Amino acid sequence: MANHYQILIVGGGNAGLSVASQLLIKKNNLNIGIIDPSEKHYYQPAWTLVGAGIFEINKTVRNEKDVIPKNTTWIKEAVAEFMPTENKVKCLSGDEFTYDYLVVCPGIQLDWNKIKGLKETLGKNNVSSNYSFQHAPYTWEMIENFKGGTAVFTNPTTPIKCGGAPHKIMYLACDYWRKKGILDKCDIHYISGANAIFGVKEYAETLKKVIAKYNIHVHYGANVTAIHGENKTVEFETQEIDENLNQKLSDKNAACYGIIENKTTDDLKKVILNFDLCHAVPPQSAPDFIKNSPLRDPENLLGYVDINKNTMQHTHFRNVFALGDCTNAPCSKTGAAIRKQAPVVVENLLAIIDNKVGTAQYDGYSACPIPTQYGKLMLAEFDYTNTPKMTFPINQAKPNWAMWILKTKILPWLYWNKILKGTA
Ligand SMILES: Cc1cc2nc3c(=O)[nH]c(=O)nc-3n(C[C@H](O)[C@H](O)[C@H](O)COP(=O)(O)OP(=O)(O)OC[C@H]3O[C@@H](n4cnc5c(N)ncnc54)[C@H](O)[C@@H]3O)c2cc1C
Repeated sequence: MANHYQILIVGGGNAGLSVASQLLIKKNNLNIGIIDPSEKHYYQPAWTLVGAGIFEINKTVRNEKDVIPKNTTWIKEAVAEFMPTENKVKCLSGDEFTYDYLVVCPGIQLDWNKIKGLKETLGKNNVSSNYSFQHAPYTWEMIENFKGGTAVFTNPTTPIKCGGAPHKIMYLACDYWRKKGILDKCDIHYISGANAIFGVKEYAETLKKVIAKYNIHVHYGANVTAIHGENKTVEFETQEIDENLNQKLSDKNAACYGIIENKTTDDLKKVILNFDLCHAVPPQSAPDFIKNSPLRDPENLLGYVDINKNTMQHTHFRNVFALGDCTNAPCSKTGAAIRKQAPVVVENLLAIIDNKVGTAQYDGYSACPIPTQYGKLMLAEFDYTNTPKMTFPINQAKPNWAMWILKTKILPWLYWNKILKGTA
């Protein structure tokens, strides 16, 4: 295997394979290496559907060797260090690879350990998370077997991949319990690090009605610190923020997170809540090997790759681009965002190779498909301006059946057959 590649891609997930395929469609003689240690490739957006009992977990995974684009070299290693001044990366094994151009996209890190007790209890004691391939099926087991009691759904204080996933599963669970006739025996709590359900008014209005319909108790400005499975308690600190106070949302984060600007740590109240069922979402940050590298944004506490949010090019290293969940672009971290970012990276990278200046710009587009009940979904689309950017000629803020079919049937097919192949 060669030690030098014209284009080296770190991470062969949604972003890495989309970019590699699109590059080869535009120029088939490129010499591309893709570094990724994982034997498996996951379609993570369907894990919400697995947790809701309507999608088979085995359909969300394929062998990486079967999806990696032909005419690329798969380097089955994990990058441990970036040395951008030497155009070099070092892997955990000690092997080093050099490049002319680097594309960084190893995804986001799930910081399970930031919630005391969570890792130990995940997958048992009625505690689960759709953020794990291994545990998403257990979410459904819990929901299906629930007989009533206190159900808790958590959302961390950090940006996460798919900002909607912590509450999507809650609405589906509520709808399932409603149909089963036990919703009035359920005390449902949403414990969220945000200060609003959604930062785009049009979509937030719909979700507020859904929350009222299911009688969900929402705790905003809350930081979950511990989940004790055996005692069945969740501990959190909260500022007890009233969503209707119109506090200023952060303009450094996407609308779907609803994260507060200038959050103070004064007046934090500690709460311990007993639960019978808990769906937990871990805090998230850039992978540690990015945090500790010269590629990181020094101003960003979560250590994301420092890029120009429109061109996707690194702010200091001209031959480095990044996309997907690992960047400091203030967009919502989704596969939908990657669909718009990948062509920008491809165009601007190929321009540099040809000694031209790339002109492609990413506008922060992202989409969050939020099912509000089985058979109905609100497709929230927006960009950096945090205003609705609806694709379809209908009011997408109104949950409907067609968008449900898009999410449950069309998008999974599109992912494996078109998006990874660079044709959608
Ligand atoms: C529960 C859930 C629901 C979601 N719902 C939606 C949705 O409805 N719509 C939507 O658009 N998005 C959704 N997403 C988000 C979407 O899955 C991610 O935004 C997308 O997968 C990010 O792509 P990525 O390439 O940046 O990272 P990933 O797809 O996570 O890929 C990262 C790759 O990097 C590799 N890697 C990691 N470390 C290293 C290393 N050291 N060296 C080399 N390679 C490494 C990994 O093995 C992996 O293959 C959801 C995610 C989850 C978890």
